[in-house]
Amino acid sequence: MVNQLVRELRQIVGEGGVITDPDMLVRHSTDWTGRFTGQAKAVVRPSSTSEVAEIVMLCRQHSAAIVPQGGNTGMVGGSVPVDEIVLSTARMSGIEPVDCDAQQVTVGAGATLAMVRAHANASRLAYTVDIGSRDTATIGGTIATNAGGLNLLRYGGTREQVVGLEAVLGTGGVVSHLGGLVKDNTGYHLPALLCGSEGTLGVITRARLRLMPFHAHRVAALVGFASTADAVESVTAWRAALDVIDAVELMLEPGMRLVCETFGLRRPFAEPAAAYVLVEVAAHADPTELLASAVSATPTVGDIAVAVDGGQRAALWRYREDHPLAINQLGVPHKLDVTLPASRLVEFLETVGPLVQSIEPAARTWLFGHVGDGNIHVNVTGLPPEDEGVDDIVLNLVSEMSGSISAEHGVGVAKKRWLHLSRSVAEIDAMRAIKHALDPDNILNPRVLF
Ligand SMILES: Cc1cc2nc3c(=O)[nH]c(=O)nc-3n(C[C@H](O)[C@H](O)[C@H](O)COP(=O)(O)OP(=O)(O)OC[C@H]3O[C@@H](n4cnc5c(N)ncnc54)[C@H](O)[C@@H]3O)c2cc1C
Repeated sequence: MVNQLVRELRQIVGEGGVITDPDMLVRHSTDWTGRFTGQAKAVVRPSSTSEVAEIVMLCRQHSAAIVPQGGNTGMVGGSVPVDEIVLSTARMSGIEPVDCDAQQVTVGAGATLAMVRAHANASRLAYTVDIGSRDTATIGGTIATNAGGLNLLRYGGTREQVVGLEAVLGTGGVVSHLGGLVKDNTGYHLPALLCGSEGTLGVITRARLRLMPFHAHRVAALVGFASTADAVESVTAWRAALDVIDAVELMLEPGMRLVCETFGLRRPFAEPAAAYVLVEVAAHADPTELLASAVSATPTVGDIAVAVDGGQRAALWRYREDHPLAINQLGVPHKLDVTLPASRLVEFLETVGPLVQSIEPAARTWLFGHVGDGNIHVNVTGLPPEDEGVDDIVLNLVSEMSGSISAEHGVGVAKKRWLHLSRSVAEIDAMRAIKHALDPDNILNPRVLF
């Protein structure tokens, strides 16, 4: 049966378009953290929307489930097969010339975020979604997860950047809306629906993306604080004072120490701080003075390091972007990406670590994240990957504090047990109805979300 399916897949995409070599399947069958593993039956690599449509129709006939996969950098196991066919978008990475009049670009789902960002910059425009996995994560994957990332505070997340989409639904039907009209209120907005659908409704094949002005001037500052509360309150004040903030990230001393020790980085300041905020501003004119006056108006700031050129900024960003890498060195982490209401954020940051440790003494909790929008990455190490007890503790705490169990990584397979903490029965019923309408045979990512 599988051999027959593979033969028919090869007829659609050619000999080289289907991978069955077990060694080559491995990297498609494990996630970035090593927490989720499976064994793909095969990886099929179509190069066009029509090939994707043929594959979906074929898999419907064979009742064979498909896991769409982009860069496989997702954090909730949604791109990892148990024994399904993986549909890789790697060959659909074409990028069209930038439409400078519309300030938009049409790109293939398999193009990486870094490729699209560089392409936009070459036209003095910017694609504003940016995440640490930018060199590997794809446009299709970032749309399917509605990726948030570093610049959401200023520009919105991925959904706000998607003007139109082309996708193959679970029915095998193709929907394509790539005309680029920003104002277009003609019924349901399918691109918005597919954005964040985690590969459960359709395979995204192409996208029309909004671009923003390119800011030639960019300054970053790393600021130390004596407490988490001081750090969070300062971020609130800076957000009110500055309209040029591109990114604002929180780190705590244990994470900073871990990153410096793991990668041999120099400590940023002579004395450790309890909390650190990395803030980056960008504008057409030099925003250094604006940032300096907002920071100096904040009474609780401690040590400050300012970076004005690209090399200095990259050095400061390493402290933040190396957090996931350093934590991975300690073993397979439980990654719990959550949002809290602004009014409960400090309380959560101060409560969650001691709570976890009181119940799981072997656990260590690491906190960092996109603090400007209430998004904290709670990483827990020291526990077996399959032990979901700590996930339960943290996600219930988040729910009690009126937060969301998934800020930006999605639900995947990792959080589906707790979906009811963030969605009502009526909402889940409506989602199931949509799933059934667009994927009646449940062949697209059948283990994800529900
Ligand atoms: C170091 C690091 C930093 C990260 N930082 C952030 C961050 O700041 N913000 C953030 O939001 N995420 C972050 N992530 C998580 C991850 O990079 C994002 O979720 C990203 O959007 C996944 O893209 P991908 O191409 O790797 O998708 P995959 O991991 O391949 O897939 C993710 C999900 O999308 C589905 N999918 C993939 N492609 C398609 C498609 N073409 N059509 C339909 N469904 C599809 C998959 O089935 C799966 O459910 C980070 C990850 C790493 C490793």
